[in-house]
Amino acid sequence: MTYYEQEEGPCQCCGRPVDDCICPECEQCGGVGDPKCYEEHGLVLSEQQLQGQRDTARAIEKARAEEMELLDELEREMRDAQGSSS
Ligand SMILES: [Zn+2]
Ligand SMILES: [Zn+2]
Repeated sequence: MTYYEQEEGPCQCCGRPVDDCICPECEQCGGVGDPKCYEEHGLVLSEQQLQGQRDTARAIEKARAEEMELLDELEREMRDAQGSSS
């Protein structure tokens, strides 16, 4: 299992695992890593947070692509197996 598949992660604001979240505490509600604070409580995403989001998006994309490749391969193997048995 990779970090972005964890149920409670990654953080929606900094893209990091919740254990490794770099988000500042919201002065208004005390929340950390809550997207609402950036929309409603005046917090601003830092470059590090944005970078973390990009990294996570890329990692997820890459994992999806690899999964698709694996499925393709499985399908091919199944076709091959069927072809040889008949
Ligand atoms: Zn965070
Ligand atoms: Zn807040």
